Amino acid sequence: MDTKQIIELFDKYVIANYGRLPRAIVKGSGCYIYDAEGNEILDMFPGWAVSGIGHCHPKVVEAIKKQAETLLHIDNTFYSEPQGHLAKLLSDRAFGGKCFFCNSGAEANEAALKLARIATSPEKYRFITTEGSFHGRTFATVTATAQPKYHKGFLPLLPGFSYIPFNDVTALQNAFNDETAAVLVEPIQGEGGINVASAEFLQTIRDLCDETGAVMILDEVQTGIGRTGKWFGYQHTDIVPDVITMAKALGGGVSIGAMMAKAEIAKALVPGTHASTFGGNPLVCAAGIAVIEAIEEEKLLENAVKMGQYTSEKLNQLKQKYPVIDHVRGTGLMIGIQLKTPGAKIVSRCLEKNLRINCTQETVLRFMPPMIVKAEQIDKAIEILDSVLEEEK
Ligand SMILES: *Cc1c(COP(=O)(O)O)cnc(C)c1O
Repeated sequence: MDTKQIIELFDKYVIANYGRLPRAIVKGSGCYIYDAEGNEILDMFPGWAVSGIGHCHPKVVEAIKKQAETLLHIDNTFYSEPQGHLAKLLSDRAFGGKCFFCNSGAEANEAALKLARIATSPEKYRFITTEGSFHGRTFATVTATAQPKYHKGFLPLLPGFSYIPFNDVTALQNAFNDETAAVLVEPIQGEGGINVASAEFLQTIRDLCDETGAVMILDEVQTGIGRTGKWFGYQHTDIVPDVITMAKALGGGVSIGAMMAKAEIAKALVPGTHASTFGGNPLVCAAGIAVIEAIEEEKLLENAVKMGQYTSEKLNQLKQKYPVIDHVRGTGLMIGIQLKTPGAKIVSRCLEKNLRINCTQETVLRFMPPMIVKAEQIDKAIEILDSVLEEEK
């Protein structure tokens, strides 16, 4: 089928809840995706950060093939080695916590919110989240997502949530009380426009939670699994959270989510309190193990740091040339280009020239290359962006 025929299928049979780009993608490999007409597109926003180590990474593909021939799914009534193995790998690379597996970022956050309620005293039922956050689309996680545009049409939301401006320490202190069960925050807001949490903000959350027994939850769904140049975004700071959630890049392209909690908190999640039928099945866990092994064997954390610096330098050079760029911000390969005007047109012009980037919050271009990216691919992306900015000047 060509793109036109595929779009016709969608028009007839798929609910139109996404604004889709007018391309049908049939294949992916490393930093590239290919459309039905055979065009090669340089992907600097791979799967919204899901294909964090590139499309169809050979080690992930191999692990999936092998596991698929052995055992695709076994329910959580039984033990299975891949789930236990992946939990250990994640625990060893974070703060030694225990894992619960699910299938998406929203579910991981949902699990974290439920855990915070059941692990603290009954009068603690309130949650604090930050403006510009993104935590998912289930009722609890969309309530946690403090952006009115995502709430439209769904009121009333879940009770108990208070929203504070991101990085506002005073607002945090004012909103926090003995009824607070948890504070949920991204170490770097992704969808919110690549906003980095300040050390002071995170430290204040840590201190308040320590004083009252509330739970500090970091949503690492986008920052986790190496994107920032460390396994997890919080590792750029001195604080240690009680709970982290992850998903996107964890499975190298398959649906997996996970919540990790310190053991003394995790123990509240006894049988009957929470579950996921598909959660932690052997197929996705085998993929997750392969992702972690590939990152280590290929030194991709180091590459994320190096290529992140390289990309930021190149983008800052563009900034000298084009006043429409206000500034460039981010950590590692999680980079935002703050424009002074809307960026949607730039994104679609880049795609016409076979470069895929993203625009969020109307004026922030998101540049999140796969961790395997090489300098020449960054150069090519910058060259295309340069030519589009030149035309749009
Ligand atoms: C994408 C994202 C989510 C939601 O993940 P889904 O898999 O779409 O449910 C939650 N939090 C953050 C920070 C995200 O970037």
